Amino acid sequence: MQSILQAARTAGRTMLSEPEAKALAAQAGLRVPRSATLRGEDEIEDALRTLGPPFVLKAMASTLVHKSDAGGVRLHLRDAAQVREALRAMRAEPRLAAHELDGFLLEEMAPRGHEFVIGGSWHPHFGPVVMAGLGGIFVEVFADVAFRICPIERIDAEEMIAELRGARVLDGARGGVVASRSALVDALMAVGGADGLLSRAGGEIVELDLNPVIVDAAHATAVDARVVLRAAA
Ligand code: ADP
Ligand code: MG
Repeated sequence: MQSILQAARTAGRTMLSEPEAKALAAQAGLRVPRSATLRGEDEIEDALRTLGPPFVLKAMASTLVHKSDAGGVRLHLRDAAQVREALRAMRAEPRLAAHELDGFLLEEMAPRGHEFVIGGSWHPHFGPVVMAGLGGIFVEVFADVAFRICPIERIDAEEMIAELRGARVLDGARGGVVASRSALVDALMAVGGADGLLSRAGGEIVELDLNPVIVDAAHATAVDARVVLRAAA
C-alpha cells in the first residue's frame, strides 16, 4: 500500500489512477477485474493473452471523473478487433478531446450482478468513515445509504446492508440475481474493518469510491475505483 501512495506523492498527485486505486483495493483483499493498461493499439494483442472475454475498455485521464458520460467506457467487447474499434472510437470522441489521455485500461467484465457502492471518507473528528449503498438510482435518487465510523466489525457490515431500504433487491426481488451477503460483508470489511484500507491508510485516504462493486451469487468485484489522497501540508 505504501509504495502506491508514495509513487503518487512523489509525482505530486493527490488522485490515484484507476489501476492504482484498484491495486490498492486488491492489496486490502477486494476482488478487482484482471486487467492490463495500454498506450495504443499495438499493445492490444499482447494484453489479451492474459485476459478472458468479454472485455471492457476504459479511457484513463486524471481529469476524467465520469468516464461513461464522456464516452470513455465500452462494455461487452469480444475480441481484439472490437477492442481496437473501441480504442479508435475513444480517440475520436469529442467529449474526450478535452482530456489528456494517459492510456487505456482493458479489463475483464464481471459477471452480471447487483451494483453496490462502497465509499470512504475522512472525518476531522471521527477519522475514517465507511459508506454502503445500492448502486444506480438507489444512491443517486433515493440517497439510500448507510454510514459507520471505522473500524467496523462483520455485524456492523451486516447491519449496514440490512438498513438499506432497497436491501431486498439483493435477495433477488423481482427475479434478479441473489447477491452473496458474505462476499459483500467481506468487501465492506476490506474497506472499513480494523485491518481495512481506510484504517491502514491512517488518514492518507480522504476519499474512496468503489462505484460500482458488482455482487453476484459468489463474488463482489470492484469494477471502478477512485481514491483521493490528503493534500500535502
Ligand atoms: P464511470 O463511473 O467513470 O463512468 P465505470 O468504470 O464505473 O465508469 O464504468 C461505467 C459502468 O460500466 C459501471 O457502472 C458498470 O455498470 C460497467 N462496468 C465497468 N467496468 C466493468 C467491468 N469490469 N465489468 C462489468 N461491468 C463494468
Ligand atoms: Mg463508476
